Amino acid sequence: MKLAADIPRHSDVLIIKATIITGAFLPVLADGAILVRAGKIMATGSSDELLTQFPDVKTLDASGYIIMPGLFNTHTHVALGFFRGLGHGKSNMIESFLFPAEKSLTPELLEPLSHSYIFDGLRAGVTSFVDHYYFSEGIGHAFEKFGVRGWIGETIADLGGAFSGRDSWDRAKNLIEKSSFGPLIRHVVSPHAADTVSPALLKECADYAKANNLTLHMHLSQTQGEFDRVQARDHVTPVEAAQRAGALGPRSLVVHLTSATKKDLKIIKESGATIGYCPTSTLLYDRLADIQTIHDLDIPLAIGTDCAASHDSADSLGEIKIAGLLARHQGVAISQLSPDHLLAMATTIPAAVLGVSAELGTLEVGKQADLIFLKESLSSEPKKNPLANVIYSMGARDVTHVMINGNWTLWNRNLPNLDHDELTSQYLAAVNEIQKRIRHSKQPNDGKPNGDKLNR
Ligand SMILES: [Zn+2]
Repeated sequence: MKLAADIPRHSDVLIIKATIITGAFLPVLADGAILVRAGKIMATGSSDELLTQFPDVKTLDASGYIIMPGLFNTHTHVALGFFRGLGHGKSNMIESFLFPAEKSLTPELLEPLSHSYIFDGLRAGVTSFVDHYYFSEGIGHAFEKFGVRGWIGETIADLGGAFSGRDSWDRAKNLIEKSSFGPLIRHVVSPHAADTVSPALLKECADYAKANNLTLHMHLSQTQGEFDRVQARDHVTPVEAAQRAGALGPRSLVVHLTSATKKDLKIIKESGATIGYCPTSTLLYDRLADIQTIHDLDIPLAIGTDCAASHDSADSLGEIKIAGLLARHQGVAISQLSPDHLLAMATTIPAAVLGVSAELGTLEVGKQADLIFLKESLSSEPKKNPLANVIYSMGARDVTHVMINGNWTLWNRNLPNLDHDELTSQYLAAVNEIQKRIRHSKQPNDGKPNGDKLNR
């Protein structure tokens, strides 16, 4: 059976004749094969080897395709798809549109509002989304509907933001402890930022994450405003405040660090935390983090896109290309920016901070079958270095098929299990409802201290 034919409905499949990038710093298999059984990778090798070893398994001919591990989008707010096209660096957009919009949100809107950004990510090869937002149960349902992996984190804040208060922490714990999601959905603990969360609550979040073996996912030192407010409040930097609260460690995913000092970055390095890096988003609204120092210190970077207000696309593949180019612009040595380094930002590094390195991030035997397929063409030849081609010549447009947990979630760039038109009409109805509520809302902007740029 050829990959171009109808979607196969059998669960065990031997995929043959593909170029397989098995992972960052791992071999590329020319004329490679991969056996998927019960949602897991059971064997990899050459097509001849696996055809001989498994003569009875149904085959899928993937000649003309590159297969690689599913990508992570390590920091996003998928329900903010309705901001697409409205951001682009408008400095007052957050105050004039985002805060009133967020205050108009109600839980039932979150699932349909997530449709657009998830679809966008899936068609860019994103199989794992790490989200941070309000009413995130609906976001979890949206991830399940699409068949993608989601790490959901209810935004926790007691000093600012749209739904500030101790009850945000109660909502977050309740969601984790009463979870009824299937195996694709997992939880992270998501305090908003160092200025919008009090030191006492941040410590509670950090202690809870450690006690429950969960990743702590927070914005940190995202803006100069956050830096100044924490300095004024506690006489320390946001990074020092996080350190004091016990919020920095190997399972901490701290996002942006644009206003972090060199000393702060050393603290991050010593803690073993991973930086969530969203270059397009920070470029549009503020400034890049000190990438040279981050690379010099060899702090792990995990790629994300943030939300549609600051990045109209959920394309992690495009984002690692931008990360590579920007790092060169900041003087980082090319030896630190090989295609393998860039792929690691979207695969093995996110898997490590999420505690799932044994399951995800590479195409090795025993791991979950999260595979993405890119169609080769005249524009991607010759392929002396297939991974360099994927990052620099190809892109999201070439991702044609996606398998997650052994199930086909994208087939010829379409959703095989869902009605695209219905998803679109549900999404647009939710967008219209939000816009209607905003027009009727007379709420003043009282979202301080979260009232400076960013903190998305
Ligand atoms: Zn964010």
